[in-house]
Amino acid sequence: MARYTDASCRLCRREGQKLFLKGERCYSTKCAIEKRNYAPGQHGQSRKKVSEYGLQLREKQKAKRFYGVLESQFRNYFDKAEKKKGITGENLLIMLETRLDNVVFRMGFASSRKEARQLVRHGHFTVNGRKQNIPSFAVKAGDVIKVKEKSASSPKFKEIKEMSISVPSWITVDVEKLEGKVVAMPSREDIDTPIAEHLIVELYSK
Ligand code: SF4
Repeated sequence: MARYTDASCRLCRREGQKLFLKGERCYSTKCAIEKRNYAPGQHGQSRKKVSEYGLQLREKQKAKRFYGVLESQFRNYFDKAEKKKGITGENLLIMLETRLDNVVFRMGFASSRKEARQLVRHGHFTVNGRKQNIPSFAVKAGDVIKVKEKSASSPKFKEIKEMSISVPSWITVDVEKLEGKVVAMPSREDIDTPIAEHLIVELYSK
């Protein structure tokens, strides 16, 4: 019997792993990857030999989908990462990781990056006391991200106050105050996103 799978789950199935695009559902047995871990479509279950280029392309697609970034924006990040000092692949991941929407997700204030992006766009957060509604806003060490006073009484954020939240070591969170702080810029070791960034660098270096 055909089952409904929405677009987000198709992306995970295409990449062959969980991208955690749908919040709580991703941690449940309803996750499409748990049920059908093969690519969507008529030929999804047939085994194909993947070329080197194919592997590099898939890694780039996976990174874009994890962080919800479109092609041109992703390319922009890469160009900036290349110009920075250090290792290009690591620079790229750090830039993606320090997007405001990702930080809100990492702070535990949204169940997915998609939800975090929506909450930021709707103006629910301030950075260092100033309203910030651009999901791609790049946070830096020392920045304080806080739920706006007006938004704090909404059921969504009241619920967060009841939750126990675990955050990566480069962020601290005070759930009572509904605020978090970027205590340091993340290093590659701090980023658990399963991406082989060297494949992306190889792809763009062709
Ligand atoms: Fe769907 Fe989430 Fe599972 Fe991905 S991880 S297949 S978005 S439920």
